[in-house]
Formats: sequence, C-alpha cells, structure tokens
Amino acid sequence: MPDDISSNFITDIIDSHQESGRFAGRVHTRFPPEPNGYLHIGHAKSICLNFGIAERYGGLCNLRFDDTNPAKEEQEYIDAITEDLRWLGYEWRDRVYFASDYFDQLYDMAVELIRIGKAYVDELTPEQMREYRGSLTEPGRESPYRNRSVAENLTLFEKMRAGGFQEGEAVLRAKIDMASGNINMRDPVMYRILNTPHPRTGDKWRIYPMYDFAHGQSDSIEAITHSICTLEYEDHRPLYNWYLDNIEIYHPQQIEFARLNLSHTVLSKRKLIRLVEEGYVSGWDDPRMPTIAGLRRRGYTPEAIRGFCEDVGVGKVKGVVDLHKLEYHIRQDLNKTAPRVMAVINPLKVVIENYPEGKVEQMEAINNPEDESAGTRHTPFSKVLYIERDDFMEDPPRKFYRLAPGREVRLRYAYFITCTDVIKDANGEIVELRCAYDPATRGGAAPDGRRVKATLHWVSARHALKAEARLYDTLFTAEYPENDRDKDFTDFVNPSSLQVVDPVYIEPHIKTARAGDRFQFERLAYFVVDAESTAEKLVFNRTVTLRDQWRKAQKQSRKASKPKRRKRAPQR
Ligand code: ATP
Ligand code: MG
Repeated sequence: MPDDISSNFITDIIDSHQESGRFAGRVHTRFPPEPNGYLHIGHAKSICLNFGIAERYGGLCNLRFDDTNPAKEEQEYIDAITEDLRWLGYEWRDRVYFASDYFDQLYDMAVELIRIGKAYVDELTPEQMREYRGSLTEPGRESPYRNRSVAENLTLFEKMRAGGFQEGEAVLRAKIDMASGNINMRDPVMYRILNTPHPRTGDKWRIYPMYDFAHGQSDSIEAITHSICTLEYEDHRPLYNWYLDNIEIYHPQQIEFARLNLSHTVLSKRKLIRLVEEGYVSGWDDPRMPTIAGLRRRGYTPEAIRGFCEDVGVGKVKGVVDLHKLEYHIRQDLNKTAPRVMAVINPLKVVIENYPEGKVEQMEAINNPEDESAGTRHTPFSKVLYIERDDFMEDPPRKFYRLAPGREVRLRYAYFITCTDVIKDANGEIVELRCAYDPATRGGAAPDGRRVKATLHWVSARHALKAEARLYDTLFTAEYPENDRDKDFTDFVNPSSLQVVDPVYIEPHIKTARAGDRFQFERLAYFVVDAESTAEKLVFNRTVTLRDQWRKAQKQSRKASKPKRRKRAPQR
C-alpha cells in the first residue's frame, strides 16, 4: 500500500468524529465507480483520497461498482477499472461490491416506503413529469397520481416489476415535496422500467433503482463511515438523508470535495467516450487520453500519479489544475529512475574524417547520474555518426553554443570534434557534416584543459537501432476546451497531438527493451516502450519532454505579444 495522505479538511472532520466517538473509532471509506467508462486522473484523486484516508486511520476502503444503469455498463469497464486500481497500488482484498448485489434489498426498501405512504407509482409521461417538476425559480406541481392508496401503489409497483408496463409508462417516486427549493427533493424517481438485461443480474429485473436511490443505501448497507464524493452531490445529500431516515437505517457521513479539473483536457466520461467513439483517439488507452490506462501507456508511473494527487490537495473550491503540474511529477520520478540512453530523432550525418575506417571503440557511458547503482554501459563509436539536426547551425546566432563551422564541441562519453565542412544537396539543404576529432580527448576531456561550450548526444550510424517514436502533444489546443459555449469541445482537438517519427536512431543495446520499459533519451525526453512493439521494431511513446519547453515557448510568446509595461504609472 502506498503512503497515507496528509491532513486536509476531510481528515479534520474525521478527527473530530474520532474524538466524539461518532463511529466508535471506525473509519471505513469506499471508492464507488460507475462502470460506464475507464478511470481518469480525476478518479485517481478520489482513489488516493479514499484509500489514503483508510490507510491513515488504519481503516478499510471498499471498492464498489455503482452498476445501477444496465444500459451503459459493460464488463470491459469493470475489468479495466480493477486493473487500473491494482496498478495504482491499491488493495481491497475481498471487499469488492456491486450495487446490483443490493437490488433485492433496495426493492424491499422501496416497498417499505410505499407501505408507510412515502412512495407512489406515477404514470405521467416523461414530458409531463418534466413540466410538473417546475424550475429553479418556480415550484413544481403535484402529480394527479400522487395520492393513490398504499394498496394501489403496492399493486402497481408489483406490476412494474412483473413487466406489466412498457418503458416510460410508469415510475416509482418518493413522496417528498414538490415545492422544495431543492429540485432533487421534488418527488424524485426511485425506480424506472428498463427492458435491458443487466451484466450481473441478467434478465431478473425489469425495473432498476435510480443512482440516487441506490447510492446512499449502498453506503449504509456497507456500514461506510465517511461517504466522500464530489461537490455536485452536495444537493443530493438531503435526499440521501431522507431515504436513510425514512427507511430507518444506519447513516454514514457524506463529505463533498471539489473535483479535479485539468487544463488542456476533458475529464467527463461522457466526453471521453466521444473521443473514443468518434475516432479522435485510438482507444481508452491512447497515450493522449487522461485515463489511467492512457497515462500508463504514455509512461506515467503510479508514484507520479499519486504524488500529483497528493500535491493538488483536497478542498472545497472549484478550479483547474495546470497540466504541467502532472508533467512535473512524472519528470521528478523518471529523473530518479529512468536509465539514460542516447537517441537521435532528427538525424544529421557526421563523418569524422580523421577517424580510421572500420574502427569501433566501446565508450563507457553512465546509465543514470541520479542513481550510482544503475552502473555503466558500453556504446559503440565509429567514423560515421548521427547527431541531432538542431544541434548544428551553419550561421549561429549569439548564444547558440552547439556545433557550427569551425567550432569544437564534445560528443558525450567520446571525443571533442570540430566541424570542418558542410555538405549540401542540390536544394541547398545540409545533408552531412565533415568533422575532425582530437584523439587526446577520449572520454570527453582535453588534457590541455581547454573547454568547449556544448556536449552533444550521438549514435554510431552503423550500429544504431532503428525504432519508431510517437511524439505526443496535448490533446486539445485550448487550455479550457469546455469553456466556449458556441463550440463543441472536439473543435479544439489538437490536429498535431501525435507525430510519428520513423526511424529514430538509438544506441544498440536497447534492442532487448520490453513494453513498459522507460528511458530518458538524453537531452530530449522520457520515453516508454509501447506494447505495439514487435520483435522487428520497437515503438517508443514520448512520455514528457525534459524541460517544460512548451511553457517556455508560451512565456516567450506572451512576452513578445504583451506591450512593455512602463515602470511607473504616469503622474497626473
Ligand atoms: P464523470 O463525470 O467523469 O463521468 P462520475 O462522477 O460520473 O465522473 P463515477 O464513476 O461515478 O464517475 O466516479 C466515481 C468516483 O470518482 C465518485 O466518487 C466521483 O465523485 C469521483 N470522481 C469522478 N470524477 C472526479 C474528478 N474529476 N475529481 C475527483 N473525483 C472524481
Ligand atoms: Mg457518477
């Protein structure tokens, strides 16, 4: 189990319960996903919170699938959610539950509410029900079916259960208050008819409880102490309490916190489903998706995701967290753990003219400067190399310290080289550099103490492994793709969110890497081996660039576009 979480307003509430003895010292939370999509980074926040709190107090956390809607739920989602939770590092032993396990109990509770005159079968059409409901400013009206007798309601509810009505012809409603300022309390629907088999209960039921009728009681049945949920459910709390009070069963304490929103992405399952179904991404686990499965395939670690969740904290104030905070955490983690390797993504050929033809030297390279125990490796050096095209400029501006005609730089772990000639094709494009190396600088230091201003990565052309690299950018071009009322969020999908580079050239020892192995391509980015790799060709997903190049570019463009502020406001 991962470390527990630090203090927040929810732990303060729990502390007060611990002091007052409200739950006799028990702390029992749950994570209640609806299996109608994959888990995303927002869920991770809820997961870290619920499991973290249980851990902190030596309590328990259940996994409960809130599977009340058979139409949208699939086994695939249940399996994916289970896998993602395990991968995040959480353990629930045998405490996995399904709201559908409580269908019999929930049915009995509904009958009980009818018996005490607190529920009735309504036969208004769905349109009429909407009309009768009123609005935020107007009270609702009572249904003409509201005052049916208990006996009639029992008969009609049984008829609903037995399939005597078509979908939409009848619902069971709680009899609360059509004039309530809280619309959730205006005789909410408890049961509706759905002629859809359920993944777990098959065709046993033709009526299904609404989420609101199932959720609070499921928490009660499981003797949850603290039902932690997001702020949208604040207005549902009076309804949950009404059900528990009237059915006279045990009360958990519901506590609401602000859901996580992340810039440059969307986190609602309804929208994530559209991205998948409309083909904007290759699937729920596309490395551009904010799903746990997508982040995993992108190369994220459980540690980074948990660290991020802990960092964003828990509060009551809605806000949007910058995507760069998430990227910061994966960089921190991979910096400590990912072995370094030299790879060239945009190659420029370099011929070392004074290096003997056919000679190969094995250069010693450090696997991870942050982790001595990672040791060293040998990497071949020869006469023809690739360097990164960006590392050369024919006519360099000031502050460009890398390779240029006549200039000397260091090739990492190898030699100092000086550019002696630039070869171009018929179109004037540079196709090759001629260089000279200084044999006295083997290992990357000059005995005479002379210095160079740049160290470049390189690979030996003859030895390099060719692989495919998938370079990802944010899935949306807009910081807040959901904020423009006149546009659909899909209008902001970034057309260049995936750039495939094939081949890239990598140090040869990498050929034994396996799916899930993570590396730092020196001076470029962190990469992970994708499961679509084959024996012939490795596929690498770019997890995150080394520095926050994007933010840097943004800052620069902002600086450029902002009129220079005067130092002092003009005096009148
Ligand atoms: P979505 O809006 O993405 O469909 P949901 O709330 O309908 O999310 P559930 O499967 O019902 O999805 O969520 C399970 C749990 O995760 C709930 O307790 C919910 O409050 C929590 N959760 C969902 N999204 C977020 C989020 N963005 N931040 C924090 N917690 C979340
Ligand atoms: Mg939900």
